[in-house]
Amino acid sequence: MAKVGNRQYKTLVCTECNEENYRVEKNVKNTTDRLELKKYCPRCQKHTVHKEKK
Ligand SMILES: [Zn+2]
Repeated sequence: MAKVGNRQYKTLVCTECNEENYRVEKNVKNTTDRLELKKYCPRCQKHTVHKEKK
């Protein structure tokens, strides 16, 4: 029996322009806090903080 439910696919959105730039696989068992990553945003053309979409 395969265990499911530990991994979820999340969308990371730029906090400055709200563009959805990245999809990440999140292990909800290891990572319970909200994702917050500094990544390059093509629309802002710079690195911005990306947050997990609700
Ligand atoms: Zn942006």
